[in-house]
Amino acid sequence: MSGQPPSAVRPVQPAPGYSQFHSMLKRRLSKGASTVIRPFALNLRPKLESTDERFLLLRWLYTDRVNHEIKERELSREVTTHSAEETVAFGRTLAELLAPPKLVLLRGDLGAGKTTLVKGIAAAFAAADEEDVTSPTFTLVHEYRGPRATLYHIDLYRIDTPRELDTLALDDLRSDNSILLIEWGEKFPRFVHERDVEISLEREVENGRRIRVSG
Ligand code: ADP
Ligand code: MG
Repeated sequence: MSGQPPSAVRPVQPAPGYSQFHSMLKRRLSKGASTVIRPFALNLRPKLESTDERFLLLRWLYTDRVNHEIKERELSREVTTHSAEETVAFGRTLAELLAPPKLVLLRGDLGAGKTTLVKGIAAAFAAADEEDVTSPTFTLVHEYRGPRATLYHIDLYRIDTPRELDTLALDDLRSDNSILLIEWGEKFPRFVHERDVEISLEREVENGRRIRVSG
């Protein structure tokens, strides 16, 4: 028996090379995307049936062709960023997950990085340049039109009553190609019920931000 691996660690079949796996991913992507990017792969993961396929996907995710900071935890869409730039970059990876129509709640204290994350999301949808995305704290609603979606970045920090909320007529913004990204939306229970995706940001030490995405 010596020299035999325990059965629980059955060796995984030799993986085909990157290009082979790349074309396999491409074949599997219904939209026939020409560039396989990580969000596609993350979407694809639940559709992969066999252990080998999942292994290959993981291996692909870990190659140096993608951000070396990707860690196992991020596969469940949880990540810690260490700068505003990293949060913007993470926001960019969320585009596939946020295909319209969506109502997204952004939760977190003041300065947690909600608006920073929207910079990445808006950029990924080619709806705005990062630097043009600013806080709608006083303006309440910012609109960014992209080719695939219209983003509405909304900040309800200063809105306290359902009546004030009604004046914003947010329901009128909802359509097949709209994405509502709402900061402080959890102040109103209806948004907690209606939201498709929730992204929470928590300040850790200094510039560290724990970001969790749940659907
Ligand atoms: P919120 O919209 O949640 O109130 P903002 O995105 O407007 O927060 O501001 C976050 C602030 O924290 C910015 O000044 C940004 O530069 C800073 N910051 C530092 N580290 C990070 C990080 N890891 N992610 C996001 N923002 C960070
Ligand atoms: Mg903000």
